[in-house]
Formats: sequence, structure tokens, C-alpha cells
Amino acid sequence: MEPQTPTSRRVLVAKPRGYCAGVDRAVVAVEKALEQYGAPIYVRKQIVHNTHVVKTLEARGAIFVEETEEVPEGEIVVFSAHGVAPVVHEEARSRRLRTIDATCPLVTKVHNEAKRFAGQDYDILLIGHEGHEEVEGTSGEAPDNIQLVDGLDAVDQVQVKDPSKLVWLSQTTLSVDETTETVARLKERFPTLIDPPSDDICYATQNRQVAVKEIAADSQLVIVVGSENSSNSKRLVEVAKDYGAEAAYLVDDATLIRDEWLDGVTTVGVTSGASVPEELVEGVLARLAEHGFGDVTEVQPVDERMRFALPHELRKDLRAS
Ligand code: SF4
Repeated sequence: MEPQTPTSRRVLVAKPRGYCAGVDRAVVAVEKALEQYGAPIYVRKQIVHNTHVVKTLEARGAIFVEETEEVPEGEIVVFSAHGVAPVVHEEARSRRLRTIDATCPLVTKVHNEAKRFAGQDYDILLIGHEGHEEVEGTSGEAPDNIQLVDGLDAVDQVQVKDPSKLVWLSQTTLSVDETTETVARLKERFPTLIDPPSDDICYATQNRQVAVKEIAADSQLVIVVGSENSSNSKRLVEVAKDYGAEAAYLVDDATLIRDEWLDGVTTVGVTSGASVPEELVEGVLARLAEHGFGDVTEVQPVDERMRFALPHELRKDLRAS
């Protein structure tokens, strides 16, 4: 028997969604560098965690490398929005590379907190995901003082030298609720644990989670546009499920939506991670419209206006030209 198609089908689109100020700055930095200096421009790691963005920049002459040693001496290299450890800056200097540092200012803020607390000989518990580039960069600021806490289960393994000098910091793209739980568990073990001076989970991650919570309760299915290696996008899938969606999927683009996901569904929620260009969301909405989801409502629980200036190395050359 053919699955029944509900007669009234609607889409709730979360706002804010997509590009944050840090991603926009990093992508524009590579684009402007290509215009200003010409191809090739080398980029260490994916400039932002989105497959489509990387492919588009590659087509314009960016070359993505894993490490600075792959960049020919004297060439220009852009550091990604996720930040790098000081040792990477040293390697670049030793290879006489010209660097453009597109580290998001909100990641730099966490680096500065790590340096400051390490300078006062604190043990730093960095809540984050093992192997994530941002965590590697932040840990590299004070490897002797920082230990990673990757989720609730890791709390029991934490060892500290002096519980009276103990602070927690976090990756910028975590789930707010999960991090709160991890901190509560840490404080059960270490009641003197100090909070960071300000939120490390950034405004963009928080706002996208607030917005997806708002649509999840009224949606049977939530589609999150984002890449598999995007931490903040994956968190949106988890939050959508926790807040009432019967199902939630991460897709890089509209072609990955399966028809069977839509069987019997009347309301689909749509959002996108902080590294996702809006055209990919438009593609998803067009695909849903083909299935009768023509009624689209934007749901915006938070206003967002943040912008960051381009990296100063680049601004200087752009001004001079
Ligand atoms: Fe910066 Fe947050 Fe965007 Fe990461 S998600 S680039 S920390 S604004």
C-alpha cells in the first residue's frame, strides 16, 4: 500500500541559523586573500567544517593542507576559524610562511583564558571533544596544565594536583545542556572548581540551540543542514531530539534527504549549523516544497547581529592596495 500523504504540510525554519560571525570572517578572509594575492592560497585544515564551502574555495584556488609543512616556503597560509596551537605559529615562522590568522575571536578568547590560568598555575579542565581541532589548539596553549574532559563519563578519571586551584573552560561549540551536566558532576567531585570568567560556548552555538528547541517540540522531523565533522551542527541534531522531535537528521545538502523520512509527517523543522551557507538551506526548502511542504514559517526566538573585522594582517594589505 502507498504511504498516505498528509494534506496540510508545513515547515518551521529556525532563526538564527547558518553562518556565524566567525565563519563569515574566515571564509571572507580566504576569498579576499585570493583576490589580493592571487592563487594559490594555502589553508591549514578546513577553513570551516563544511564540505561545500571547502569545495567552493578550492575551485577558486585555495589549497587545503593538513599541516604547515605541506606549504611551500615563503607562501601564504590561512589558519582556520578553529584556532591553532602556538607550536603551529612557530612552525610557520620557521618555514618563512606569511600567515593570515582566521581564528575566531571567540576561540582566541578561550586561548587567552587558558594562558592566564596556566600562568597562575591552575589545573584547567577543558570540556570538549577529543581530536577536535579547536580542542587541540586550546590545549596547545598550556599542555602541562590542561586536561580534556570529553563528556560525563570522563569526569571520574580527572586527577588534579590542587583542587583549590582548578578552573573549567570549554570548546565553543558544545551542547549547553550537556556541558551544564558535566560541570555539575565535576563540582560534585571538586566543589572549589571555578567557572570561566564568561561563557566559552559562543553566542552562535547558544542561539542556534535556543532556536532549534523552539521548533523541535512542534516538528515530527527536524532536518539539520551541516557536515558530519561540524560539532555545532551535530549538537543541533541531539538537541532537536531531546526537545521533542521524533526524528532528526544531519544532511550536507538536499540530495541526502530520503523520501521515507517524510512519510506521514506533517511538520518538518529545518535549521543549519554555523558553517553552512544559506543556499544549502534554500535547496532543502525547495526539495521539501516538491513533497507538498509549501507552507514555510520562520521561527526566531533570538535576535543576532554579531560581526567581526577581518584578520588585521589582511586588513592592512587591503587598505594599502
Ligand atoms: Fe566563532 Fe562560535 Fe562561529 Fe565557532 S561557532 S566560529 S566560536 S562564532
